[in-house]
Formats: sequence, structure tokens, C-alpha cells
Amino acid sequence: MAVKTHSKKPSKHSKVDPVLIEKKKIAIELYYGVCYICRKKYGKGFLYHHKEYEDEDLKSDDFASTIWYHCYLLELILQQPERFRLFCRNCHFLMFIADYEEERQARLWECIKETKPRKHVKKRRNPQSPQFTPVK
Ligand SMILES: [Zn+2]
Repeated sequence: MAVKTHSKKPSKHSKVDPVLIEKKKIAIELYYGVCYICRKKYGKGFLYHHKEYEDEDLKSDDFASTIWYHCYLLELILQQPERFRLFCRNCHFLMFIADYEEERQARLWECIKETKPRKHVKKRRNPQSPQFTPVK
């Protein structure tokens, strides 16, 4: 008899792809199951980021199938977890900044530092706000 473990409908991959199951398991066991930068809980689009590629590291082009590459990568992460970070898709995108030349990085940091985030205040009626007077 099949045991129902959860009531939510599984994603199209979760049942059929053991690589994705292993990917999630590693995320939880080795990286607390959260994005290193924003602390978002593990989910769709999460990936492992190489801090630095080593010469002997294989690339996805070296494999006939991306599944085989992912198997290789997960094994590498298990052996050397300190070489990787777990990121959500958005935070991983930020890593492209590492490829920016120095001047571009400097301009970006200038923009980040001069930007004041919008204050999130609860909208409410201000009783002292001027009344709207229609033009006669
Ligand atoms: Zn993130």
C-alpha cells in the first residue's frame, strides 16, 4: 500500500528525478536549506555556485548528458562542500558582478551606496492633510 507523505501535489520532477531529490537533500544537510545571501528557503531555481573553478574540474560540455554532469557535480559537492555556496536564482545572478571590470564594479557600488531604500510605512489618512478645494 502506498503511503501518502504529503497532501500537496508533487512537482513534475520530484517523483521522477532522483538527481533533484539528492540536490535538495545536500542543500538541507550541508547548506541549511537556505540561500547563502538572502536566506530564502530552498526551492525552485536554487543552484550550487563554484567559488572558484579548479583546472581538473569538468564542465557540462564534458558530459553527453546534463544529468550526468549534475551527478558528477553533486558528488564533488559532497566531497568538497567548502568550495560551493547554495544560492537562489536571484542571488546567483548577482555573481555576474564578479565578472565586471573594476571600474564598472566601482560605479555599481557607488549607485548602491547612494541609494536610499524606500521606507515602508503603512498608508493611512492624514487628518492634517490639506483639503481638496475644487476650482470654482
Ligand atoms: Zn538568495
